[in-house]
Amino acid sequence: MAERAFDTGRRPQWCPGCGNYGILAAVRLALAELGLRREEVVAVSGIGCHGRITEYLDVNAFHAIHGRAVPVAEGVKLANPGLTVLVHTGDGDAYSIGLSHLLHAARRNADIKVIVHDNMVYALTAGQAGPTTPRGVRTRSTPAGNTEEPFNPILLLLASGATFVARGFSDDVQHLKELIKRAVRHRGFAVIDVLQPCPTFYDSRPLLREKVYRLSGRGASSLREALELALEADRIPIGVIYEAERPTFEESFAHARVPPALRGAAKPDLSGLLARFL
Ligand code: SF4
Repeated sequence: MAERAFDTGRRPQWCPGCGNYGILAAVRLALAELGLRREEVVAVSGIGCHGRITEYLDVNAFHAIHGRAVPVAEGVKLANPGLTVLVHTGDGDAYSIGLSHLLHAARRNADIKVIVHDNMVYALTAGQAGPTTPRGVRTRSTPAGNTEEPFNPILLLLASGATFVARGFSDDVQHLKELIKRAVRHRGFAVIDVLQPCPTFYDSRPLLREKVYRLSGRGASSLREALELALEADRIPIGVIYEAERPTFEESFAHARVPPALRGAAKPDLSGLLARFL
């Protein structure tokens, strides 16, 4: 299916130069090259500038409330494990209000593919510092410079047991497309932290263009090596940081389900206990 098959035809309402354009292009290309059909894909987005992507990506879509895109996606995947389920979420959506959902989905190895549009600022609400805003950056809520230490999302996700952790850059569309394809092919939870300039509220483009470099090969060969990559400070590696195999949440859940014939027999008899209180 051609890339244009995933285009709803609506004109994106993002600012000129916004990194969301690169992410949208990379997702469409990846889905086309994977040979997926619209009806085989569900995209769930959260609240933020990124959230509009489900208006422009022609697949089954759900625009969730703030911070809740991940649990919605987990429910979709459990209900129909045959679907490819994408989550589009922002740094505020994923790493602040929705953080516990994200980390627990990683721990469970839920088979969903999370693309974090990490512009390092709350952009939809007009430019406040967020969980990944670097120290010293001036925003509307930090006019004298951000005094808080930002999260290191890669470190956090590795520590949470994620089986696929990658970092991308929205200006490197071809590279990001390949990351998304690998994430979709991965069996289990996959997350890509996509560094994305927001020219309106925090234009990180010059800094990212200077510091970002592509990892060679297929990524770290051990968790220890991945942790070292996550801690790299002078330059910013993009690529697959870590990949491992583990049973998925959906597989474990299916095995744990009680067969219908045993459901009645398994129920405890509480009548004696209830009689004491009635
Ligand atoms: S405010 Fe920033 S993130 Fe939002 S659409 Fe504009 S450039 Fe993109």
